[in-house]
Amino acid sequence: MTDLNRNLDRARGYLAHFDGGVMNHIGGQSLPAASRATFETISPVDLTPLAQVARGGAEDIDRAVAAATEAFDSWGRMPGEERRRILIRVAEAIEANAERIAFTECLDTGQALRFMSKAALRGAANFRYYADKAPGAEDGLSLRTPTQMNVTSRRPIGPVGVITPWNTPFMLSTWKIAPALAAGCTVVHKPAEFSPLTAKLLVEIAEEAGLPPGVLNLVNGVGEEAGRALTEHPGIKAIAFVGESRTGSRIMAQGAATLKRVHFELGGKNPVIVFDDADLARAADAAAFMIYSLNGERCTSSSRLLVQETIHDAFCETVAKVAAKIRVGHPLDPETVVGPLIHPEHEKKVLSYFDTARAEGATIAAGGVKIGTAGCYVAPTLFTGARNDMRIAQEEIFGPVLTAIPFADEAEALRLANDVDYGLAAYLWTADLDRAMRMTDGLQAGMIWVNSENIRHLPTPFGGSKASGIGRDGGDWSFDFYMETVNVSFPRRIHTVPKLG
Ligand code: NAD
Repeated sequence: MTDLNRNLDRARGYLAHFDGGVMNHIGGQSLPAASRATFETISPVDLTPLAQVARGGAEDIDRAVAAATEAFDSWGRMPGEERRRILIRVAEAIEANAERIAFTECLDTGQALRFMSKAALRGAANFRYYADKAPGAEDGLSLRTPTQMNVTSRRPIGPVGVITPWNTPFMLSTWKIAPALAAGCTVVHKPAEFSPLTAKLLVEIAEEAGLPPGVLNLVNGVGEEAGRALTEHPGIKAIAFVGESRTGSRIMAQGAATLKRVHFELGGKNPVIVFDDADLARAADAAAFMIYSLNGERCTSSSRLLVQETIHDAFCETVAKVAAKIRVGHPLDPETVVGPLIHPEHEKKVLSYFDTARAEGATIAAGGVKIGTAGCYVAPTLFTGARNDMRIAQEEIFGPVLTAIPFADEAEALRLANDVDYGLAAYLWTADLDRAMRMTDGLQAGMIWVNSENIRHLPTPFGGSKASGIGRDGGDWSFDFYMETVNVSFPRRIHTVPKLG
């Protein structure tokens, strides 16, 4: 039996869990949508149905907000140390279920197992990290004047909405949900309609591990229905959203009437900038890794390759060779690097950029084709001969597709890097420390990695500028979003209150 067949056998067992459908999960109960409506989720591997999913709407959101509001009363006041103990148990339970989560995610999203097994464990790491921060979440500052002692502290803001996208949905959901719970908030989660399965696993695993009912609630459904109702609900104090920039704008408008606090992690068109003094072998590996891993369906993927003209042709040739050799295949095959894209609709969008590239006059140096006919498989692709004003250099393609553009010097590299609407991440390759300082000072991006691929360290801030987001996750930044800061002022000596009469 091959590794793939063995994995397929095990995956069948895991998927049987969803045979009865994927219900909403509200106040500790698995419930169909109030309307009884459902939608189908399919596997991008072969487009076969995986499960029927509850299609929640305003009534389900109402119920979930009521459950989250009731649970907030005790969860929000629970000592941080107790919340820590529960969230650590959730982390342990995720670790114990890591294979089930990873296999389910592979079939629901098309992401390769080699990355998804780590994503499940990173979900556990998010819970562990924020569990440990829970006891200090309320801590603040003391700010003294000669006459006053001011003491700040933080309180959880209340029930919050978490809306997540279809790419690496389990890991991204934990990234939002773990700090919210550690801060003392309760959550209503609306996962993406293309990949809803692991959100159900998360709430079930968390409750089995001891998370009280109603602290985490799940309402499935489409963005314009369940998502919209969540963003408009007066009982929801804040919306943490990960998804497209255009959806972020809509959510901001929808939340305006109820003055929602928003935290947005949005799209990117991130440059990887390679100077001719860099370690070129490592830079080529990193450039390929950051666009072809996770199917390129990754907000921080380095989708624009800016290469100094002195090395441009040779460097692009190396990347094209790497792209051509990448193993595209079934996501449960341990050898697979690139699996099928999430959904035929998204595949159509990615394939359309191959025509756009040709029409704009770029060269397809690798890939540029669909593979097979059954699932959403697309060859790892490299466009060369591109200009930064082309659509292939400006728009987020969100697939294994890289656009290379030459530059002459630092000034041009910086101008090209910043000449996009987005500002999420940037990657810089140079051996010159002074240049690295100058470049990182000028780059418009929330996160910059020098001589490295994206390596996430949870205490550091994660987020984007420009059209890539509002706010930061990670470390204490997450708590700033999920909590209100309160200042209490005490007199240091008896003072006379001014008399007005
Ligand atoms: P999307 O914006 O289409 O959908 C994201 C979520 O929003 C889904 O759950 C969807 O149902 C919901 N939604 C849609 N319309 C809504 C509305 N009117 N009101 C409320 N909710 C609504 O994004 P996607 O296609 O699922 O995900 C891909 C996008 O996510 C890419 O742009 C990618 O860059 C971005 N992303 C960003 C980060 C980051 O950290 N910056 C991380 C991952 C993904």
